[in-house]
Amino acid sequence: MARGYTRMDRLGWLVSPALLIGVGLGVWLTGHEPKAVLPLVLGLGLAFPTLWILISALSPGKADRRCRECGASELVRIDKATTLGLRCRACGFRDESASGWLLAEEEGPLEELVLNRRRNYRQRIRTGEKPASSDVDRRVRSN
Ligand SMILES: [Zn+2]
Repeated sequence: MARGYTRMDRLGWLVSPALLIGVGLGVWLTGHEPKAVLPLVLGLGLAFPTLWILISALSPGKADRRCRECGASELVRIDKATTLGLRCRACGFRDESASGWLLAEEEGPLEELVLNRRRNYRQRIRTGEKPASSDVDRRVRSN
């Protein structure tokens, strides 16, 4: 087994057969029009989003710390003052442009980081310097 792959990654091939089965069911339904289908479809249409919200609320997302080079769960932010750039503590892999937003979110409050970015951005604009990509976020761009 290749390193760095989870059980869910390995089950990805099931998506294509599931879509084919879905298309087959759709074709069968349009040809046969069974009476029980409407309540079933409406029920599933209501149950699925409700279940999705419930699952999302009970198990919030976690930052993926797996290194894409070695597969170890050792990714950390390069600079604790920004959310840009990741490095692997196990193999030394570095990606200066990768987003460390989820890792920063997991490590603590983001307010100070965001305020620092805005301060740096405004400072560079005032001095006529081109803003660094690490200073810019969507909210600052729209201001
Ligand atoms: Zn690594």
